[in-house]
Parts: sequence; C-alpha cells; structure tokens
Amino acid sequence: MVHSLRPSAVVPRGFVIVETASAGDAIILTVRSTDISSGCPGCGTRSGRIHSRYHRRLTDLPIAGKSVRLVIAARRFHCDAVLCDRRIFTERFQADVLAPWARRTARLDHIVHHLGLALGGRPAATIARRLMVPVSNDTLLRVVRRRGTPRFIPPTVIGIDDWAWQRNQRYGTIICDLERRKTIALLPDREPATAQAWLSDQHQINIVARDRGGAYAVATAKALPEATQVADRWHLMENASRAFLDAVRNSMRQIRTAIGSATINPELLTAAEQIQYQGYLHREDTNTTILDLAKSGVAIKEIVRRTGHSRGLVRRVLRGQRSDVFRVRENSLEIYLPWLDAQWSAGHRNGTQLWRELSPRLSGLYRPVVARDLNRVACHRRRLGVHLNRWLKWPTSETGKSERAKVALLVFFSANG
Ligand SMILES: [Zn+2]
Repeated sequence: MVHSLRPSAVVPRGFVIVETASAGDAIILTVRSTDISSGCPGCGTRSGRIHSRYHRRLTDLPIAGKSVRLVIAARRFHCDAVLCDRRIFTERFQADVLAPWARRTARLDHIVHHLGLALGGRPAATIARRLMVPVSNDTLLRVVRRRGTPRFIPPTVIGIDDWAWQRNQRYGTIICDLERRKTIALLPDREPATAQAWLSDQHQINIVARDRGGAYAVATAKALPEATQVADRWHLMENASRAFLDAVRNSMRQIRTAIGSATINPELLTAAEQIQYQGYLHREDTNTTILDLAKSGVAIKEIVRRTGHSRGLVRRVLRGQRSDVFRVRENSLEIYLPWLDAQWSAGHRNGTQLWRELSPRLSGLYRPVVARDLNRVACHRRRLGVHLNRWLKWPTSETGKSERAKVALLVFFSANG
C-alpha cells in the first residue's frame, strides 16, 4: 500500500507547515503548532486566549542536502488563573520536541550532541558543515558539556566506602546512590571531616550503608544523627569469612587429622605433588622453629635475627596465620579403591585382570557424544592406569601386594603404550 507523503511529516511532531520558501542553500519552512492552547509555565493552567503573535526562528534537520530554517508562528497567551503572577506567557511546546529558548529542534540537538561526542569540537564542526548542519565548534562543545552533566537527584539511601586513587598510596571516598545504583560523589580523601562536610548538606539521606565502623560511622553520626547506619553486604560477608577463617585456623591440627592428610605416603605422590610436599614440610619446619623459640621466651626481634626470616613472617606464624594443610588431589583411582581392596583381599591379584574389570566401569562415567569426549575418556583411562600401576607398585605392608601383580601390570602397560 502506498501512502502519499504529507508535508507535515517532515517537520517536528505537533507542527504543520504554513508556508515553504527557498533561499540559496536553505529551505525556509514556516510552521505553526496544532495545539489551540498552551500551558502557563508559572501555574500550569492551559490557556487559549491569545495576546499576540511573534516569529521564532530555529534550525532543524537538513532535507535533501539543504539546511532547514524553521520559522514558528508562535503565540503569546494570557494566563487567567487568579493566583498566578504571570499575566502573559509565550507558547510552550513538548519538551522532547522543542525546549523553551532553544535555537535548534530537539532532534537536531541530539545529532549535534552525538557528532560532538564522536569527533570533538573542530572535526565535528567540519563534518556538520558538510551535512548542512550549521554549528560552530564552540557550540558543539557547549552541547556536549550541557548534556554531559545529568541533573543531581538528592539521594535518600547511600553507600559510602573508601576507594583507591592509587593502591596502597592514596585513598579517597566513594559515595553511591544505592537506589539508582550510581556513583554520585568522589571525595579527595578518606578523612571523617571531608565525608562529614559532604553528608551534612544532604539532610534527606535516611539510610547509610558503610564499612565496619571507624571513620565513616563517626562522620555519619555527626552529620546525619537521624539516619540509620547499616553494614553493607560486602562488609558483612567479609566479617563472616574472617570469622570462619579464624575458626578454621584455630582448629587446623584437628582438621588435618580428621581429613587424614596427616598420614601422607610420599612414595605415592606424583612428581609435582612431591615438590609441593617438600615446600609444605619446609614451611612446617620453619613454623615449629619459630613457635619453639617464642615458647622459650625469645623476643620477636631476636627470633628474626636468629632465624633470618622477616619480621612479618614471624608475626604471622605467632598469630597462627601461617599454618596450612597439605592435601593431595583426589586421583581418578580413589573411587575404585574399596573395590580394588576387596578384590585384593579375595585373592584376585592379577594386575591385567584387575584392569580388565575396572575398565568397563570407567565407560559408565562418560557418555561420549562427540569425538572430543572419546578423547577425554581415553585420557581418563590412561591416567587411571597410571594410578593403578602406582597402587600396585608400592604395596603397603597391610595389603602386601605381590611382585607378580606389579610385573604383570608393567608388562600390560608397556605392551599397550
Ligand atoms: Zn499562570
């Protein structure tokens, strides 16, 4: 279906064309509003009683490579509201079409803003001239600046915390509007006085989410005594996790015994695990030395001198913050160990036979869909074989695995690559 193009379709919404003219590179469109009345800016009452008429000149989007000058046949109205101070007012249009006192239509201003943002002052002005949008570079920058600073909405629920201008060097204060999820202020430092000065201008704030006490609590209490202070979610989690870690650290020995990592057979470790295990033993050794010295009444300074460790490390050990746990990664054979032990006790000690029975159980773990899965199964199978081999190779005294099984398995793997 084909519709004819009405001339009014090219001018902003709410206007109709009264007259068209051409002047060199420009098209001059005289338009008027389709509204018969307008709202008074003083009291909001709509009035249709016309006082006089005048012409308002603006620029609009170019048409067919020609710039467009809009002449609006605007009106002045009487305001008849009894309590209104304004007797006469000029015609107002929809804010998203034409702002009062604007020299450009809103849709052209939008384009000018984006040109300025994308290209900056001078280059944008050059492009704008070619697009038949007559704006200077100063105007472009002014538009970007005007639209770049959003209106400040006084917050009622805020979050306050410190943030780093430069980590470990210089800290400032960040204030967020938690309802609008926006940063609203960055203060130059984290002094309570600075925060207090900012907060005391914002009496409408009634909830302040902050860190765990200290400077911001004092600042808030002084500036906004009526406001409710709450710990923010991050700091609550931080509290909880610190408490948990302290509890774990204090019971490290018992935990270590319970998870069985106190009895580690170094021979069963992989090469990488053995390196980690050596490091762990070394750390434990250092911890014991430092703790023994401290127990016998040696001062921290003297411990540092005797052991050659840093002061920070000695302090951490004495506070119990350096005890760790050595755990080997659960290997793929682990889940089959009960079954293997049972087989062993029942006298099935042939490595090849054990492998043959173990292998089909493995395929239950994966349901290969694509070739990559098949590859993963193969990898898993290979790793499992290595662990099984190790299990048979270093028999513990209780199970007493035979040399025969070991040999059988070695033969099997060398044969199967
Ligand atoms: Zn009025």
